[in-house]
Amino acid sequence: MKTGVRGTRARLLVVLGLLFVAVLVTVVLQKKQETAGDQNLRMTLVIDPGHGGIDSGAVGADGTRESDINLAIGLKLRALAELYGQDNALIRQDDSTKCDTEDYSEHRDLVCRTELTQAEQNPVYISIHQNDYPTGQPSGSQVIYAAGEGSAELGSITHENLLRSLYPKSRRVAEPATKRLYILSHLDCPAILVECGFVSNPTDLENLKKPGYQTSLAAAIMGSYLQYIQNTVRI
Ligand SMILES: [Zn+2]
Repeated sequence: MKTGVRGTRARLLVVLGLLFVAVLVTVVLQKKQETAGDQNLRMTLVIDPGHGGIDSGAVGADGTRESDINLAIGLKLRALAELYGQDNALIRQDDSTKCDTEDYSEHRDLVCRTELTQAEQNPVYISIHQNDYPTGQPSGSQVIYAAGEGSAELGSITHENLLRSLYPKSRRVAEPATKRLYILSHLDCPAILVECGFVSNPTDLENLKKPGYQTSLAAAIMGSYLQYIQNTVRI
């Protein structure tokens, strides 16, 4: 039990550290943008909680829907983006799909999410998902990045921050997306997909349902986004 408390405290410290760095980066970024006086430099964090509505995504052993976990983390990520004064767009804000339910198709839904992202100014796309596997063994986060410029950098930063703060024993690395992933293969902007954890792993599933843990995930992703745009806004 003592190890568990220490582990929780260590995770909390890492998350607080990430948030502190995020505040510093935000101040520096705002100064840079004010100095340049150029609104065109502003990027839009596009947050896309995967699935929704009739598409639940993966389902945990206790019936927990991936789409609900994705939305909870997406809403927390948006709250942090607002807190740090970052332009943002949340693709879905409730338990719905992005195309009419009557003629719903998974493909149309993905096309719609892609078009909504492309309509934003200087979008940086972050998709939120949960992993699933036939056995309960695999656990931890996995970031997948698109081919567009900046995607690999954003993906690596996010993957490393997630592992450092929540899954320190994992040796997994960020991976390039395959053509199978429609949105990532159709966006030119920086774009990543974050598999936060495995709904098929009992420990991950219990954690992923906790609001505090969802906040830790959102904080690690937000800190990574700020780190990324700090490296990218060159004035
Ligand atoms: Zn999914």
